[in-house]
Amino acid sequence: MSNDPSTAPLAPWRGEFSAAATEIGFLHQQSAVILRDLRRGLLLCSLFYLVFGAADISALGFEHAVVPLLSRLAIPFLAAACLYYARRPDASVRASHHAATAFTLCWAASYFVVIAYRPGDILLHGMSWAVMAMVIHVLIPNRLVIAATISIGASLAFLTLAWAQQVVGTRPLSSLTMLLVCANVFGLTVAQRHARMWREQFWAQQVLTNLSIRDPLTGSYNRRHLNAGLLDGEIARARRYRLSLSLIMCDLDGFKKINDTHGHHAGDELLRSFATLAQAMTRESIDTVVRYGGEEFLIILPETRLEGALELAERVRAAFAAQRIELEGGLTLGTTASFGVVGADFGGGHAVTPQGMIALADQLMYEAKHAGRNLVKARQLGPRIEKAERAA
Ligand code: GH3
Ligand code: MG
Ligand code: MG
Repeated sequence: MSNDPSTAPLAPWRGEFSAAATEIGFLHQQSAVILRDLRRGLLLCSLFYLVFGAADISALGFEHAVVPLLSRLAIPFLAAACLYYARRPDASVRASHHAATAFTLCWAASYFVVIAYRPGDILLHGMSWAVMAMVIHVLIPNRLVIAATISIGASLAFLTLAWAQQVVGTRPLSSLTMLLVCANVFGLTVAQRHARMWREQFWAQQVLTNLSIRDPLTGSYNRRHLNAGLLDGEIARARRYRLSLSLIMCDLDGFKKINDTHGHHAGDELLRSFATLAQAMTRESIDTVVRYGGEEFLIILPETRLEGALELAERVRAAFAAQRIELEGGLTLGTTASFGVVGADFGGGHAVTPQGMIALADQLMYEAKHAGRNLVKARQLGPRIEKAERAA
């Protein structure tokens, strides 16, 4: 989610986020709910569809109802196969939708087999088909446009068949047509309203979450987000996959004096300019810039060895030292920052704690302060103790 999460427009007809990336993010976050709804929808459909086999037996007698019964019996197996496909660990975000599409198509095809064996019951089939159309729109989670295409397409096919057969008169067939039109229009309306409300609610939640984990002045993540397990999570991941992880602690130099001389507004602008620079120079969605304290920032660099982190810190140091912000009255202002860099390799399985890494980065940052400021000090944590230092 970006720093400005105020809007996420919805496509008016599709009932999806206009931006494909936002829609994929939504589906990813809601995948457990979608899978649960798919399971419930497919189980209910299969169950009722099987129970209605009793109507085939009563209309045709058991010996003539074998084919329609077999076509009904295939549906629970199909449901099981679709659920298995959607629940695979490596299934894509859209796998549930693909499973819903396959199930719905086969379900409709299977019902045409039943209709072919019981052409005299076309009015009853029409009512059943109206219920099925509602279920396809509302109960089986799928993309709105796909569900509507299948339901409306199959309804049209059914009506064409019913009118061509002329088993019943024009008046009942007209009523049946209206019933199916209503079922599709109402089903689509309800599904669209649900899709929109679900996404609006999701986005409101995202905005609130984002507000609670970001620092309003700089847009960086805040301590709450760090303390909620951000670094623990990265360390756990690095340990599991035997990766490297680096941290950079940054502290602006002589910041109190800037506030005292030019006012807090000027200090705020400098803080913002540092955060913007750090965010621009790090990898989006991989690295994290956290406002650790007043004028202190912590940069978390997953899958980064000490050498890479040291190089980045040096680049940020040089860029910030060269940067000037413009104040009212044409005055320009700039300062420098001091950096402590810690790298850890998790190939050896040694113990590294978030607190240990942060404490060492902090200590190195203070070493840089004491050595004259506008400097980078770096050290490797763990068994491969290599000391690397760089002074500007
Ligand atoms: P050093 O070079 O040793 O780091 O000195 P310093 O002056 O940068 O550090 P010191 O810790 O003495 O002062 C930090 C100042 O940062 C004090 C505080 O008022 C200021 N500060 C903290 N948060 C904010 C903020 O959000 N906005 C502004 N404008 N100033 C802030
Ligand atoms: Mg400080
Ligand atoms: Mg400072």
